[in-house]
Amino acid sequence: MYADSTQAPETSPEFTNDESYAMALDKLDPLASFRDQFHLPPSSDGTPAIYLAGNSLGLQPIGVRDEITQELDDWARLGVDAHFDGHNPWYGYHEIFRGSGARLVGAQPGEVVMMNSLTVNLHLMMVTFYQPTKSRYKILMDYPAFPSDVYAIKSQLRHHGYDPAEALIEIRPREGEHTLRTEDIVEHIDRHGHSIALVLLAGVNYFTGQVYDMGLITQTGKKQGCIVGWDLAHAAGNVEMKLHDWDVDFACWCNYKYVNSGPGALAGCFVHQRHGNNLRQPRLAGWWGNDPNQRFQMHLLPEFTPQPGAAGWQISNPPILAAAPLKASLALFDQATIPALRKKSLMLTAYLQFLIDDISPERFEVITPRVPKARGCQLSILVHRRPEALLKSLQDGCVVCDFRRPDVIRVAPVPLYNSFHDVWRFAQVLQKHDEKS
Ligand SMILES: *Cc1c(COP(=O)(O)O)cnc(C)c1O
Repeated sequence: MYADSTQAPETSPEFTNDESYAMALDKLDPLASFRDQFHLPPSSDGTPAIYLAGNSLGLQPIGVRDEITQELDDWARLGVDAHFDGHNPWYGYHEIFRGSGARLVGAQPGEVVMMNSLTVNLHLMMVTFYQPTKSRYKILMDYPAFPSDVYAIKSQLRHHGYDPAEALIEIRPREGEHTLRTEDIVEHIDRHGHSIALVLLAGVNYFTGQVYDMGLITQTGKKQGCIVGWDLAHAAGNVEMKLHDWDVDFACWCNYKYVNSGPGALAGCFVHQRHGNNLRQPRLAGWWGNDPNQRFQMHLLPEFTPQPGAAGWQISNPPILAAAPLKASLALFDQATIPALRKKSLMLTAYLQFLIDDISPERFEVITPRVPKARGCQLSILVHRRPEALLKSLQDGCVVCDFRRPDVIRVAPVPLYNSFHDVWRFAQVLQKHDEKS
């Protein structure tokens, strides 16, 4: 009956819609105390806002300030010597994230490096991994994709002399549907894979919140001889991944959304060790990707010798003040653990779905897949009645979430700091919006 595997009905727990039930869920939540590890922005009356925008900018972990202060103090106290004598020596600062960065995305230590920002890393990865030939030069991506990704990919195509109108394939939802069917993606790759150099999709679609079947799509692409990369901007810190086992070639993500490392935070980059250990991989080089034992021979060694692993793609020495927040934020992921966070997230989001369904499908329609494994924290809600007035209702209700013109809001209850009561309060605001019309 359900040909679309992402839309089969979920078997959700038995929820009820009263406030005491939400509070009881919070009492039973083993991760509830992590909320105290974050600064919750206050609303105008001083109480915490209903913050459901962690898919845009995650909240500030309490521990961030100390991590930045530590580096400011070392700079003040030691100057240049903090590179080796600092509390966290700057020379190898990126190695602090070797374990925690790998755990975040299911990688082996050494396959992940934190560097630059997301779109920059996408470019760096395409320099290495987009190697078009006469017969195989196309890039496949999902639609709608985040504009920065579209710009980056089109500019790479043009850089190699291709016309994006011909060389860029954007796979779209079927007529009348909001999300992509896994079987459509797989079929497309099976049929056209021989002409595709690079499959570069978002792990989680930023607009619909759909989680793609990353393992299956990677496997399908590789069978056709394509390179498979992922943009994990909305997946990192949100869903469980096994990049190494899935044999993903490369992946990039930002750390300021679900990873809570602050605006413009240092971003993440995964390179499978199969490629990372191949020191002959072409790349844009800089001194920080060089073998650190030879780095300070400076002009005596004019030839670049990359260090193995993802770290060999670094170009410049990292901005320590922008890297320090990651130390505090990744520590929280290690304490809570991704499987436990995902377990709570499934409950939180199912509860949100239940409360929205309980209002009225004529007013609010969730366009995110209903199957738990095909979505993360975020639900994207199509507002059928007076969407332009909803912005004011949300503001008046102290809700912080994202509004995409003309009529979609995106809300993301985040298991590290959102409560079931937050979700309940949000549903009250929706319920009251335009109630009488
Ligand atoms: C948030 C986001 C970006 C942002 O790119 P930056 O380079 O970090 O500014 C890019 N792509 C996707 C898919 C995103 O969700």
